[in-house]
Amino acid sequence: MTGVGAGAKDTTTISGRSHAALADDFLRAAVRFTTDRLKDRKRGATEELGRWEEWRERGRAIRSHTVANLDHYLRQFVANARAAGAAVHFAADAQEASAAVLGIVQEKQATLVAKSKSMVSEEIHINSRLEEHGVRVVETDLGEYIIQLAHETPSHIIIPAIHKTREQIKDLFTHDGGQDLGTDTKALVAFARSKLRETFLAADIGMTGCNFGIAESGSVVLFTNEGNADMVSALPKTHIVVMGMERVLPTFADLEVMANLLPRSATGQKVITYMSVITGPRRAREVSGPTELHIVILDNGRSSQLGDAEFQDVLNCIRCGACLNVCPVYRHVGGHAYGSVYPGPIGAVLTPLLLQGEEFADLPNASSLCGACYEACPVKIPLHDMLVALRRRAAQRKAKPGGVRVDRERVAWSGYATLFAKPGRYRLVTRVARIVQAPLARDGYIESTFGPLVGWTGSRHAPALAPEPFRDRFSRMKQDVKVARQNDGKAAESDPR
Ligand code: SF4
Repeated sequence: MTGVGAGAKDTTTISGRSHAALADDFLRAAVRFTTDRLKDRKRGATEELGRWEEWRERGRAIRSHTVANLDHYLRQFVANARAAGAAVHFAADAQEASAAVLGIVQEKQATLVAKSKSMVSEEIHINSRLEEHGVRVVETDLGEYIIQLAHETPSHIIIPAIHKTREQIKDLFTHDGGQDLGTDTKALVAFARSKLRETFLAADIGMTGCNFGIAESGSVVLFTNEGNADMVSALPKTHIVVMGMERVLPTFADLEVMANLLPRSATGQKVITYMSVITGPRRAREVSGPTELHIVILDNGRSSQLGDAEFQDVLNCIRCGACLNVCPVYRHVGGHAYGSVYPGPIGAVLTPLLLQGEEFADLPNASSLCGACYEACPVKIPLHDMLVALRRRAAQRKAKPGGVRVDRERVAWSGYATLFAKPGRYRLVTRVARIVQAPLARDGYIESTFGPLVGWTGSRHAPALAPEPFRDRFSRMKQDVKVARQNDGKAAESDPR
C-alpha cells in the first residue's frame, strides 16, 4: 500500500489507520477467517448454479443498460411509485437527504426510529443527525445493532461487525442488558431478538435502504437474512426508504438475475432468506404495512459519474461486498482503515468519486492492483482500471501548471523511464544496484532501507536483486550446455563400440 511508511501513527490518515490495523492481530485473524468462509461459500454457490460467467455477463449487461438510461428508468420508477401512493423526495446531497428524513420525522413527531441495515443511510449520517434532534434511532440488523452499541461504524458492507469477537459482543450486550449473558451464541441472539422486538413494536417510523427499485411497478425491493426489514417496513405507521439514485432495475425479470447474483456473491447463499417487495403504502384491504411510504432518492455525486467513460460503470455496483473478501489490502487491514463509509476496492473507487475532496484522494493507493476485485464482481466492474485512472487523475492534478512544487513521484518515475528505456543503461543500473544493496541484503531479502525507500521495508521485506543477472546466468547455462554437448560428442567418437 503506497504511503504506509514505518512509524506512521496518525489515525486521521489511511497510512496511520493501516498501521493500527496491522498491529491488531485479532482484527486481522477475524477478517481473514470470515472473508475466507465467505469466499468458499461463494465458490460452492456459483459452482452449484453453473455457467457463472454467463450470469455475470447478464448482470453486467442489465446494470450497464440501466445506468446508461438512468434518466428514463428513474422517471418511470418515480411515476409508478407515486401512482402506487408513495411520496418521492429528491436529494442532491447528504445534507438534503438527511433534511428530508428529519422533516418527515418531525412532522410525525416521532421519537423512535427503527432502522434496517442500509449503507446509503450511513452515507448521509442520518443516525447522528436524528439523534442531534432528540430522536432515538435503533439499528435492527444484528451486526449493525452490535456496532451501534459499540459506537462504531460498519467495517464490511455485508458483515458490519466482522471485526468483533464473541467475547466483545457479550460485553456489549451485558452492558446494555445489565446482566451477564455469557458467550453462548444462542443466548446472545435471544437477548438481541427480545430487545429488537420491543423496538419494532414501539417505533413510530421504520427506515430502510433499498436493494433495488423496480421501474415497471415503482416497487422497492429489500433483501435481508434476519427478516428485520419486513418488521421495520410493516409495523411502524410510516416507512422511509433512502435509496441511491442508481439502484433502479427496469423489470422484475431483471430482478430475477440480481436475486441469483447478489446472495451468491455476498454470502454464498443460493437464495436470500427474505425478499420484500413493497409497492406503495398499505391499501384499504391490507391488514399490515405503513399508512405512509416516503422514498428519498439520493444523488450525492452519482450523477457526476454519468457519461464519464472511465467511471460510469461504478454505478453498476449492487453492494454485494465480494470485492472486499478477495482484496489483499482489505483482508489485512479491515474496513475501518479506509476511513470511509464504503471500504475495500469499491470504497477506494466510490468514495473519492462521490466526495471529490482531498480527504479521500489517497484511497486509490490502497490497492495492489491485482484485479481480484474484478474477478469477484458479479457485475464485472473493472475496479482495478478505475483505481489506476483515479491515480492518474491525482497525478495530473498535482502536475497542473502553476504548481511550483516538485512532484517527487513524477521525478522518480521519469528517472526510472530514462534509466530503464535502453538495455545498456538497464544493465548498468542493475549492476550498480547490486553493489549498493550488498550491505542490506540477507538471504535474498532487504529488511530495512533508509531515506525515501523506508516505506517499502517498514512493513514488509523487499526481495533483493538476484546475485547474478538473468542474462548472465542464461548465457553461462547456454555455454555449459554447449560444452557438455561437445564433450558428449568427443566421448562418442572415442567410444570403440
Ligand atoms: S464492486 Fe462488484 S463485487 Fe464490489 S460490492 Fe459492488 S457489485 Fe459487489
